[in-house]
Amino acid sequence: MTEFVADVVVLGGGSGGYAAALRLAELGKDVVLVEKHKLGGTCLHRGCIPTKALLHAAEVADAARGAAGIGVVASFDGIDPAGVRAYREGIVAKKFKGLEGLISARGIRVVHGEGSLESGAAVRVGDDVYRGSDVILATGSYSRTLPGLDIGGRVLTSEQALDLDVVPERVVVLGGGVIGVEFASVWRSFGVEVTIVEALPHLLPAEDVSSSKALERAFRKRGIGFQLGRRFSSLTQTESSVTVSLDDGTELEADYVLVAVGRGPSTAGLGFEEAGVRLDRGFVQTDERLRTTAAHVWAVGDIVPGLQLAHRGFQQGIFVAEEIAGLSPVLVPDVDVPRVAYSHPEVASVGLTEAQAQERFGADGVRAYEYNLAGNGRSEIIGTSGIVKIVRRVDGPVVGAHLVGDRVGELITEAQLAVGWEAHPEDIAPFVHAHPTQSEALGEAFLALAGKPLHAL
Ligand SMILES: Cc1cc2nc3c(=O)[nH]c(=O)nc-3n(C[C@H](O)[C@H](O)[C@H](O)COP(=O)(O)OP(=O)(O)OC[C@H]3O[C@@H](n4cnc5c(N)ncnc54)[C@H](O)[C@@H]3O)c2cc1C
Repeated sequence: MTEFVADVVVLGGGSGGYAAALRLAELGKDVVLVEKHKLGGTCLHRGCIPTKALLHAAEVADAARGAAGIGVVASFDGIDPAGVRAYREGIVAKKFKGLEGLISARGIRVVHGEGSLESGAAVRVGDDVYRGSDVILATGSYSRTLPGLDIGGRVLTSEQALDLDVVPERVVVLGGGVIGVEFASVWRSFGVEVTIVEALPHLLPAEDVSSSKALERAFRKRGIGFQLGRRFSSLTQTESSVTVSLDDGTELEADYVLVAVGRGPSTAGLGFEEAGVRLDRGFVQTDERLRTTAAHVWAVGDIVPGLQLAHRGFQQGIFVAEEIAGLSPVLVPDVDVPRVAYSHPEVASVGLTEAQAQERFGADGVRAYEYNLAGNGRSEIIGTSGIVKIVRRVDGPVVGAHLVGDRVGELITEAQLAVGWEAHPEDIAPFVHAHPTQSEALGEAFLALAGKPLHAL
């Protein structure tokens, strides 16, 4: 056995782990980053980036289909899966190269191999032990499935769905959360017949109900089917098709089934509990400073209960790095982390839903205003419909923002500042939004809540 020493050892080089490593190195710490696969983790290789490349290909397909309607001569002649793959892999490869360069330029020692936690803030990789003053756990998550539903053959997780080199005719998507909705959107744009099955009453059930309903209207218009409030019961597959049975007896036949029912923490068999790290249903239990129950062992990213998003992982990684360096940073609570589903249309939000705000401040203590994108010139030009809904406390700050429409993911930052800085609509109303932009819709909502609507009644 060889023992190596570092200031900090990070286990897992995905969004949370590599962000921690980069910030620690910036703060002058000697860092070892242990990664069993590729730096960048789920987000770069199997998540955010490749799926958004697919969604962009889907957007181009839709634009080609709709070109004649705006006087552009073009035609949609189909999808070339190999071409889409080459485009997607090219983007990932470039970002991966950039990340590797950055990690190396910051002097971070990368150890390639599968690590496990050892008592006393150390990580074992094969026969070698890397001991730090602190260890950060960032081992990420995996696609979950349901009892009686084995992955394989025509039953896919998002990982196999990304790798699919055919455009199927019919797909059933189990789960109407972000991943399910994004794949459904891509496939529909590629010409696939799609049905989403969601056990809860709405698509994107964690979102404000107005956003879910607006998305459902848009999906219905696009011909995306969905079965809401229905549970998966059983599945049979043959060489050429899959049949999914639901709890009400409905049978859905398809070429493939995507299982998108959530992601579990990758923490099993890594020595966490043996080293004193308490788990709850596999998730690492931490205090509000992201300390685990083992001294000098921290956790970030998808293994920490809460939103499973790359940018939450980034900020937790930066937070822990600064905490270790004694800088007393502030952790942004999950509710103030922006959330975006990049479907067509996009759904973006930050802060509380109207129902959550009413629960917290009382029904009379909350006011919500919904501005319809039909009144927004830029949205009309790009051919999108949707809503901007702002929730405020009566005579108080903005506590939530909920947006639906193409490209609204790019608007969520302004809403985040409003929620994060506890701004009152009256404070924001005087700021000017460039015309014609979709951001004017946010401006209109703030103006209306400040009692002086412009292009609204
Ligand atoms: C299809 C899909 C689409 C997504 N889209 C988005 C999006 O658009 N926006 C967004 O914000 N989030 C998105 N996400 C979520 C995002 O990918 C995750 O929240 C993020 O990757 C979590 O970062 P992490 O560091 O916790 O874990 P990961 O990124 O999973 O990284 C964990 C790393 O640890 C390594 N590892 C695990 N165990 C060991 C071990 N024992 N030894 C060594 N290395 C180990 C893994 O190989 C991996 O590289 C998406 C996820 C999926 C699946």
